[in-house]
Amino acid sequence: MEFALSDEEQAFQETVRKFGDKTLRPNERRIDSEGRIPDEVLQEMARLGLLSPLVPAEYGGLGASAVLTELAAEEIGRGDFSMATAVFYLLEAGWGWVLSRHGTEETRRAVLPPVTAGKAFLGIATTEPGGGSDLANMKTESRRDGDHYVLRGEKAFVSGVEEAKRLGGGHLTLSKNASGSGFNFLYVPTNTPGLTTQKFENMGRMGISTGGLAYDGASVPSAYRLGYEGKGFEYAMEGFQVARTFVSAACVGAAERALEVGTAWIKERKAFGQPLGKFEGIQFELADLFAQVEAVKWQCRRAAWMVDTYTFRGDTQHRSEVDKAVAAVKLTAPPLAFDAVRRVMMWFGAAGYTKDVGLELGFRGVMSYLVGAEGGLNIMRIILGRELLGKEFVPYK
Ligand SMILES: Cc1cc2nc3c(=O)[nH]c(=O)nc-3n(C[C@H](O)[C@H](O)[C@H](O)COP(=O)(O)OP(=O)(O)OC[C@H]3O[C@@H](n4cnc5c(N)ncnc54)[C@H](O)[C@@H]3O)c2cc1C
Repeated sequence: MEFALSDEEQAFQETVRKFGDKTLRPNERRIDSEGRIPDEVLQEMARLGLLSPLVPAEYGGLGASAVLTELAAEEIGRGDFSMATAVFYLLEAGWGWVLSRHGTEETRRAVLPPVTAGKAFLGIATTEPGGGSDLANMKTESRRDGDHYVLRGEKAFVSGVEEAKRLGGGHLTLSKNASGSGFNFLYVPTNTPGLTTQKFENMGRMGISTGGLAYDGASVPSAYRLGYEGKGFEYAMEGFQVARTFVSAACVGAAERALEVGTAWIKERKAFGQPLGKFEGIQFELADLFAQVEAVKWQCRRAAWMVDTYTFRGDTQHRSEVDKAVAAVKLTAPPLAFDAVRRVMMWFGAAGYTKDVGLELGFRGVMSYLVGAEGGLNIMRIILGRELLGKEFVPYK
């Protein structure tokens, strides 16, 4: 067992940390207030290989490991506390990988180079107005019509709807296969005729939009289907396994940022004649949070290692092990990050409630991962229950 990062991993981590410090931190308030990640930030990410790093070099990516991608997610979550850049990063990373693995050569060539260059957005559309957890009961349908699929239905709460309109690009879209059984996973460009969008007003991570997509006879070439007809659900679940690892890593970064800000503050801020950090009530809270963040960080890196070792090698025999590792860390990382931010806000007293201190950016951003983005916490519990007890213990079909 080797816990030390390799030279390559350390160098990449340092590069992304510098990017976080020099580019993301000075821009995070602007990202939040202007509601978009500035083009120059995206261009810098493209230059550093941070837009879909898992994608092979021939499509503009780095062909990076999940561990390397996880390390970068930690740094991006720490750098832009609003979490908007982390979301942009992990969507491109996770779903870019799925497309590079299961997409046709035509789709890979059309979609991935602009995505890795920061000139197009790639996201995921599974959630519907009727719900996001019970995906098997979705209503959106895709019907084969010659060499095209025609989509009808609606998606909701989808990240990057505005970005895909502004930059170009689209979403990997899960739909019921109306021409047979199962589900189709199709790349649907946002400018497809018959597809309309709607923007939702969120409370946080304002730099990346969330919105609705309505398909009224939207037609895409059958070459845009990932893998086999009817097998799309499996590819989407594979993508969630990967993307949830990076969500968790971004939460680790956000928790570390909160502790960093909080530690500096309790060394300086005095009450009753001494720094707050001298009071055990606060010092022990810091110690507890540090211990928990360290545990979850290594849980997260192990999940990434399992993704590299099993998922990326197409090893389905260890599927259950990876599912457990990923669901466990997606269950622990967001609540821990939220708790860290909330507690550090309390150390600041009234100042913690101001925008000047900036902890509210993390408070609003991390909350998105508690309410459901990339799968609700109870869904992680259901996955763990299924894997620990057996499929017969899932209480519904
Ligand atoms: C900021 C943000 C960005 C998002 N981005 C995307 C995106 O890019 N693409 C996309 O497709 N979706 C996206 N989503 C949607 C997300 O995937 C869903 O929120 C999530 O899957 C949960 O679906 P839901 O919100 O419809 O809640 P529901 O499915 O209605 O569930 C409501 C609550 O009940 C719980 N629950 C559900 N079933 C059970 C059960 N059997 N037992 C116990 N509890 C249960 C859930 O955990 C949740 O807490 C995003 C969400 C947010 C908040």
